[in-house]
Amino acid sequence: MVKTNHINVTKIERSKLNDFPLENPPFGKYFTDHMLEADYENGEWKNVEIKPYQPLLLSPSLAALHYGQAIFEGIKAYKDEKGNACIFRPHDNFARFNISAERMQMPTVPEDIFIEGMHQLIALDKNWIPALKEHSLYIRPFMFSSDELIGVRPSDNYKFMIILSPTGPYYAAPMRIYVEERFTRAAPGGVGYAKAAGNYGAAMLATAEAKKKGYDQVLWTDAFEHKYVQEIGTMNVFFVIGNKVLTPDLSSETILAGVTRNTAITLFKEMGFEVEERAIGIDEVIAAYKEGQLKEVFGTGTAATISMIRELTYKDFVMSFDTTTWKVSTEMKARLDAIREGRVADTHGWMYKI
Ligand SMILES: *Cc1c(COP(=O)(O)O)cnc(C)c1O
Repeated sequence: MVKTNHINVTKIERSKLNDFPLENPPFGKYFTDHMLEADYENGEWKNVEIKPYQPLLLSPSLAALHYGQAIFEGIKAYKDEKGNACIFRPHDNFARFNISAERMQMPTVPEDIFIEGMHQLIALDKNWIPALKEHSLYIRPFMFSSDELIGVRPSDNYKFMIILSPTGPYYAAPMRIYVEERFTRAAPGGVGYAKAAGNYGAAMLATAEAKKKGYDQVLWTDAFEHKYVQEIGTMNVFFVIGNKVLTPDLSSETILAGVTRNTAITLFKEMGFEVEERAIGIDEVIAAYKEGQLKEVFGTGTAATISMIRELTYKDFVMSFDTTTWKVSTEMKARLDAIREGRVADTHGWMYKI
């Protein structure tokens, strides 16, 4: 028999909600009244608890701090004009979370904690979802090793948590991007396909160097030849070339399988575009640009949905774009926003109701 974890709920005495304006809050700065916490001990999940948001008391020998068994997810919940709350595709993030867990030798989290726990937590903090256009509640599930022992081996103990942060329109100004040829984000056999905390720390130097040169982010390329494109910063990358939409395929396991990526592919196909998922060489991108066929370049991810690229630089070759004329990515985003804000029917079963 599968054990169903009971969730203990301790409510806050006085909500902090009135202390925070829910209009246009900065991304990831304010957290709601409650959080979810669960412990993995002796081979099972226990102590599943929703309680007031509060600091953790951690030992300096905490394994995650030393050897980096730490993974996370990013999901959004929306409220429509009638006040109904929905989470966007949480089961896809749940599946990906456990793929990350397996890669990092961490225990998988059962659905009754990840999905049901998230459901109960959001139901409790529902008033924190801003019912404003392009606003949402950012959901951050994460897990880390919690053995209090500095030995290089998978921990016996883990903590799984979910915290929630109200967020406003994540206006992503069109970006200047540098095609990275020195640093590598991910190599086959590595952890690029996992949402592992270390991937982000490892990418910061390349981003900082690009910023010094006046760019906003890097376009990562493959580890061997620095010739095939992978991702833009922490977003999946798309190119509109002629009448086709192109994005790198996932077969090399160096690319994070974005839920927004999958959503965008589905919507582009519905819009009548041919979508190709395959290896894309930077040479091909440059050739298309020179022929006037490279129409749009953008990144996709939960935080910003799409980020347009106004300038893409490879060595000293600069490709520039007038993003104000773009139709393909803007139409896709409009369709997606309409689904998420409950203005059109959700024909894909993407919206999970609270
Ligand atoms: C999270 C993430 C993405 C985007 O994934 P979504 O599910 O669309 O939010 C893309 N690339 C990397 C490296 C990421 O960490």
